[in-house]
Amino acid sequence: MKLQGKNLTARLLVVALLIGFVSHMQQSGLYAAQEKTDADKVQQAFKDALAREKANDQAIKDIRKQISITKTAISKAEQSIADADITINEARREVAGLDIEIENLEQDLAIKALDGFISSSLTPQEADLSDLSISKNLAYQRSEFFFEKLTDTEADAVEQYRIARQNRAVALGNELNGEQIKAKNEQELITLQQQEKERNAEAKEIEAILDGLIEEIKVLDEVEQEIQSIIKERATQEAIDDGALSWPVDTPYITSPYGYRTHPVTGQRGKLHRGMDLRARTGASIYAAADGKVIAANYAGRAGNLVIIDHGSGKTTYYMHLSAYNTKVGATIKRGDLVGKAGATGSVTAAHLHFEVRINGVAEDPRNHIIGAQ
Ligand SMILES: [Zn+2]
Repeated sequence: MKLQGKNLTARLLVVALLIGFVSHMQQSGLYAAQEKTDADKVQQAFKDALAREKANDQAIKDIRKQISITKTAISKAEQSIADADITINEARREVAGLDIEIENLEQDLAIKALDGFISSSLTPQEADLSDLSISKNLAYQRSEFFFEKLTDTEADAVEQYRIARQNRAVALGNELNGEQIKAKNEQELITLQQQEKERNAEAKEIEAILDGLIEEIKVLDEVEQEIQSIIKERATQEAIDDGALSWPVDTPYITSPYGYRTHPVTGQRGKLHRGMDLRARTGASIYAAADGKVIAANYAGRAGNLVIIDHGSGKTTYYMHLSAYNTKVGATIKRGDLVGKAGATGSVTAAHLHFEVRINGVAEDPRNHIIGAQ
């Protein structure tokens, strides 16, 4: 089996399992029990891996949900910062506008105050002061007097001035408030971005674990299949050890089975066909169906060139119509050894192998003796 796993855990697991296998296979006996234990172990590991996959899958879903929540919070903070910026800029523009208005009103009032003052309360020397700002200060210093004598127009100007100062204070308050909101959200944004970064790293970690698990599950699946195929092979081996036979040709295809042939038109039961006919071109390899001793390798009339192998316990196999022999009488033979070449000797219309199995001399259906023929 190929080790394609990128994941170290999966690789180590497989290596451990395979080492376990080889050591089991090297021991005689206990095959079935050992393999069942191996199969159980792999199945347990498979289940564990699936459970871990499920848990990690849930974890990644949770973390993705958290990341999504964090992202929403980030855009909310960013929106708040943008809103605060608008508020701050609006407030600054308002303050700037009010500064101009206030300055104008101050000048207006100063001039009015100065006029009123000059005409009513300043001494001629004071009124002669060429510096307007000095006169203005003097006017303010005596404002009590001045305000008592306000005309309606002057009272309006004072009220406007008061409102402008008040509005400016409100605008400054708005600006400060906006700046506080902005600062708070900027701080929160940093925290959220850090959180997002951490969660992304965590997600990446879990994803790597998941990738490893998927690989591990794949490998476990392959090991499982390997075990199943070994169990199957072992079953075949056990069948052979019990005396079962192997196919005597490479690619078995039965052209005529064992049994009574019925007449194709009358349906009348005919002669017993004592063996099975297997498709085989002249020169095709014919193998011993099991270990044994060659008791015949000669021409035998209708059977043509014939090989008979004695497998002990009263079991013999017959190979007929051969074109050549690859063994001789008295030879000890192993399962799968080449005994001859297929041909069309004897009473036949075309080349094939007529294969028989006899138990104490009585022909039986070879399909009941060949592994995998049932
Ligand atoms: Zn035949």
